[in-house]
Amino acid sequence: MLTAIVGINWGDEGKGRMVDLLSSDYDIVVRYQGGNNAGHTVVNERGKFILNLLPSGILRPETVNVMGPGMVIDIEHLCGEIGRLREQGIEISPEHLKISDRATICMPYHKLLDCLEEDRLGDAKFGSTRRGIAPVYADKYMKKAFRMGDLLHMDEIFERLPAILEWKNLTIHKGYGAPEVQFEDIKNWLIQYGTPLLPYITDTTAYLDTAAEADKKIMFEAQLGIMRDIDFGIYPYTSSSSTIAGYAPVGAGIPGRKLDCSIGILKAYSSCVGEGPFTCELFGEKGDELREAGGEYGAATGRPRRVGGFDVVASRYGARIQGATYIALTKLDVLSYLPKLPVCVAYEVNGERTENFPQGKALTDAKPIYEYMDGFMTDISGCRTKEELPEKALEYIAYIEKAVGCPIKYVSVGPEREQYITMF
Ligand code: GDP
Repeated sequence: MLTAIVGINWGDEGKGRMVDLLSSDYDIVVRYQGGNNAGHTVVNERGKFILNLLPSGILRPETVNVMGPGMVIDIEHLCGEIGRLREQGIEISPEHLKISDRATICMPYHKLLDCLEEDRLGDAKFGSTRRGIAPVYADKYMKKAFRMGDLLHMDEIFERLPAILEWKNLTIHKGYGAPEVQFEDIKNWLIQYGTPLLPYITDTTAYLDTAAEADKKIMFEAQLGIMRDIDFGIYPYTSSSSTIAGYAPVGAGIPGRKLDCSIGILKAYSSCVGEGPFTCELFGEKGDELREAGGEYGAATGRPRRVGGFDVVASRYGARIQGATYIALTKLDVLSYLPKLPVCVAYEVNGERTENFPQGKALTDAKPIYEYMDGFMTDISGCRTKEELPEKALEYIAYIEKAVGCPIKYVSVGPEREQYITMF
């Protein structure tokens, strides 16, 4: 049984909370893309844990966690993350954590390049997380990156490294004018942070293939929503990896196997962090109230997120691209203060109405067409069954189901583990 759990929106859909809830049914949890540029907080009976790189099954001793070939791994960050979890009493062993020998290493010079470029851009900056993600994916496709499996033969890395550094210093030193990256520094870094990880590095493709053959339950955990996908998102305001369910078997290392199920996480309204087109954005008092009600402030930075009503155009597109089998609708409780629920039903592009999600200039120029549905004006955070939900909330859920063209199986009505409803 192969299941992907993916975001249908711009991110911050509440994936962390749903993965934590649903992963208990799975034998193996796999991260298949991205690096430490995002992450989530999981709160359970053992405490509060921040995960950036490790799959969220790491908190359950009986779950095997795999970091797939599609990932980019900053080994210094990973050592730190493992260390912090150990301090909190979480046991981490090679039986319980497996790192693909094909995953790419995010080096200190990737992080440096990310920072140098953001600083150079000044006011025009992209809002990069400065973790080196775009530079390391660029090197991967330039075929000038190192992989986790290379750490098993460090001498070979040290042979290749001078030529790579010569090339990197053309940009870092000669281009940006920063001090040259030194061979000894990178060598020591690789030894310091690579050595403790050696027991975890393995051929995860063979492991997962055998597990899939034995009918183990495998969950692929995405980071970031569809709108941040490098191909299908709001390019260039995207991440540098494929966040879509279709990429999950590839990034996980078993491209020949097909997904049985794709669970799409969809928020009952919209939010977007950082720059880029966000057609359904609500401004002024309406936006402020929704932001406040949903607590829409960046987890790490406290930066206010942009917010909007439910966006039918973007969500239908998201559900299709993700091939969602069914949906988990999150944060419905947040809308309980609204007498009228704003829904962005279509976009206007060049004076014409469209229900198809545009890209490029058409997306930048798009204006929202809003309609309003009756609100439910009741606190639903205590509801645990479909029958307990007010009629107007059920109408809203049914409307979204029809508009997006995908059944809603779970409705989340609060951040706590048990605050959800199974609809069928
Ligand atoms: P991710 O980036 O998609 O993993 O999203 P997060 O895990 O950061 O979730 C966003 C925030 O919403 C977190 O603070 C969650 O605790 C909170 N949250 C998740 N689901 C719900 C819900 O149904 N209702 C409310 N009120 N908060 C929720």
